[in-house]
Amino acid sequence: MLVVMKAQATPEQIQAVCDHIEQLGLRAHPLPGAQRTAIGITGNKGEVDRGNIEALSGVAEVIRVSKPYKLASRDVKEEDTIIHFPGTDAAIGGRNLAIVAGPCSIESRQQAFDIAEQVAASGAQFFRGGAYKPRTSPYAFQGLGLEALRIMADIRTRFGLRIVTEAIDNESLELVAEWADVVQIGARNMQNFSLLKRAGRLRKPVLIKRGLSATLDEFLMAAEYVMSEGNYQVILCERGVRTFADHTRNTLDLSIIPAVRRLSHLPILVDPSHATGKRDSVLPMARAAVASGADGVLVEVHNHPELALSDGPQSIYPDQFARMMDELEQIAPVVGRNVPRGIAVEASK
Ligand code: PEP
Ligand code: MN
Repeated sequence: MLVVMKAQATPEQIQAVCDHIEQLGLRAHPLPGAQRTAIGITGNKGEVDRGNIEALSGVAEVIRVSKPYKLASRDVKEEDTIIHFPGTDAAIGGRNLAIVAGPCSIESRQQAFDIAEQVAASGAQFFRGGAYKPRTSPYAFQGLGLEALRIMADIRTRFGLRIVTEAIDNESLELVAEWADVVQIGARNMQNFSLLKRAGRLRKPVLIKRGLSATLDEFLMAAEYVMSEGNYQVILCERGVRTFADHTRNTLDLSIIPAVRRLSHLPILVDPSHATGKRDSVLPMARAAVASGADGVLVEVHNHPELALSDGPQSIYPDQFARMMDELEQIAPVVGRNVPRGIAVEASK
């Protein structure tokens, strides 16, 4: 159910409606929009008696949301969600594209700083790097853990880049939430419902990668899990799905971009690195991602991919990343977008 408040509803009236919903044992999710505030209701098993709510002052109407995902749906919030990063001009969603770049794994302080310096010089605003790695083999490099989080925090201080890194379980979620700017939930955890709920209790942006065989509805339901706990700062990321095609690591499903944008107000990025697994395919697919309306791209960049401890074959060189930025800058205006170059960070007091 969705309570649509009148455009002139006061904050007190909005609060009174939320209180009424909570008193019914349900959960109220106030979602401010450009014109008016909507209040999503979750936790109801059947129909909520709308008469009593409709009678409250400031309420315009109460409507049923037929989609299985409610808070993630455009029916509930018409305008695109834009996630801002306090103290900076960076955002995910909106006119400016978000460019997230960095190695698959943080391997050493030197490696991470060298790559960060180069992607920052090309104008990236976000740095990615794995501290906790979900690897297919238990014998493969598992990540440097807390040490990697500390290195990335120092990268943020040095270059201003905002940090995106993955949490793989409850333990790493706590640490990642403490040190990073965006908590990534990996493809293999897209239906780890207890992890999603915990991420929903954070007040940090959460980036959810599409599961290896997830449908559009399942993908949006993963976002709904996070939002149902009160965290509305959710970013989706298409990273390819498993198909019979074996010329690439996965099959990049770009047609999900317009579908997500139609059904949901949440921003969606594209990761052409994991989608293709091939360095030479990353740039063409990044171009296509922007052309198809994605809100940005997430790419793996390594200065010595031949020595990388994970995902070397799909990591582009820093000079290829520089070229990617130049090309995306040309494509972006055609679809009404812009590639910001560099991040402005307010001097801390
Ligand atoms: C990653 O971003 O390094 C990663 C492991 O991605 P995914 O969960 O999409 O495989
Ligand atoms: Mn990787």
